[in-house]
Amino acid sequence: MLNFFKKKEKKQAKKNPVAKEKAPSKSSTGRSQEELATVKGQIGEHKIDIQLAQLPKEYKYINDLMVKNSKSKTGYSQIDHIVISPYGIFVIETKNYQGTIYGGKDRKTWLINGKFKFMNPFHQNYGHVEGLKQLIDSKHHDAFISMVSFTKRCTFKIDLELRKIHSNDLIVYDIELSEFIHRKVSVNKLQNQEPFLSEDEVNEVYSLFIGVNITDEKIREQHNQAIKEKSNKAEKALSKCVVCDKPVSEKVKNYCLSSKKFGGKVYCFEHQKNIC
Ligand SMILES: [Zn+2]
Repeated sequence: MLNFFKKKEKKQAKKNPVAKEKAPSKSSTGRSQEELATVKGQIGEHKIDIQLAQLPKEYKYINDLMVKNSKSKTGYSQIDHIVISPYGIFVIETKNYQGTIYGGKDRKTWLINGKFKFMNPFHQNYGHVEGLKQLIDSKHHDAFISMVSFTKRCTFKIDLELRKIHSNDLIVYDIELSEFIHRKVSVNKLQNQEPFLSEDEVNEVYSLFIGVNITDEKIREQHNQAIKEKSNKAEKALSKCVVCDKPVSEKVKNYCLSSKKFGGKVYCFEHQKNIC
């Protein structure tokens, strides 16, 4: 089993270690890589759109909602998808990464292919959920379910807790998104005599969210720019020794990543010695 994962990981790593919609391009072919990632991202979004459109009619969903959020650094939260059902308000963050995803429920950062750090998507989505809670009556606050969706170009090596349907933090592959929504709704139906939201309340919450959605292109652009800068900064902070966390130069980082014996990890000069 482990071998199977390893093989798969290798294959994917060779193809493209990290295809990420917001990643800055570095090579001369960077642009087309970035465009490719964008296209892949669009296909991924399309897969999700189809599933959301097929949900029961009494469910409401919203794509790409942007709301003011005083707790967010940019002052806003941008939410990929929201599904409002009588038995749960699903807040969905989609990720267009490729590779093996290593992550723990409470870890601040997660890893792709053991190399590339990214923020725990549930921490990110927690901010989104909190932002949305500010907008609606507290009686609905227990209805929220945080979901993070990855494409099938990923392999999960994450806390199994995040795959269990009783959890209110769920990680899914894009193709199983609606399946997980159905399952979660079924579980909540079994466990609660009354729905969290009446049909009217579903519509009210939907209208409220739509009403506060920020459509101003300028604000949206500024928000995206701020996010981009933040992720660039995070990318720079990647070059750290995995043992002592000491920052290493670009040269040391590239040396480690190109050498098989370091297994895709970066070590400072001192800790390289322990590996040999
Ligand atoms: Zn070190």
